Amino acid sequence: MEKTRAPFKGREIHATPVCESDHSLSFFPSLPCLRKRGVYSADKEKSTSGCQKNGGRHHALFPGIFTTFCPHGICYGFEVMECAESPNRPFTFLKTRFERAPEIIIYDNTCNLHQYALNRDPVFFSHTRMVVDGLHWDNHTACAIGYKGLDYPFIRRINTQIVEQNNAKLKKLKSSLSYMTPAHFLMSLKFFLWHCNFTLKRCSQSGRNNTC
Ligand SMILES: [Zn+2]
Ligand SMILES: [Zn+2]
Repeated sequence: MEKTRAPFKGREIHATPVCESDHSLSFFPSLPCLRKRGVYSADKEKSTSGCQKNGGRHHALFPGIFTTFCPHGICYGFEVMECAESPNRPFTFLKTRFERAPEIIIYDNTCNLHQYALNRDPVFFSHTRMVVDGLHWDNHTACAIGYKGLDYPFIRRINTQIVEQNNAKLKKLKSSLSYMTPAHFLMSLKFFLWHCNFTLKRCSQSGRNNTC
């Protein structure tokens, strides 16, 4: 145990200036931007990731939307991704909007995010466990078994299916969202996610399944 804590001893969280403006294609009403991402020496180095996830992208359109959810399936908000599955997106989200990184992060590309985060601000993430959700685990080739979320009882108790159901619904909106102006895109997506959150809350209060 002492050995695992040793790299964090005597080190502090990388302090960055206060954030003055938010990303224009993002919306996280309960998680305002607190500080800037910061610049790290690891940003200049080429990534030598061990795990190559399977996946592709469209040649002209943005690769997708980055969404975050609480363990009960409520969506905190979204941000447009500029690069497919870049660990920089979740890293920037966590570093700029949280006082300290959350205790548990369940994420599709978590193995690469973990390496990316520990190479930049290890103390900020020193109390964080990162795992891959059950659905995406099979896409991870040459990944460390420790990232397999379903092997942990505390992960099995979290219903990641709600997130997948919302992602499946978002996919249905893809063809119309992709060709909207930025203003219409933001408005439509905000309204859609509000509707999903509202329905989920209403259904959980009445003890029914999410049917939004
Ligand atoms: Zn919750
Ligand atoms: Zn992996």
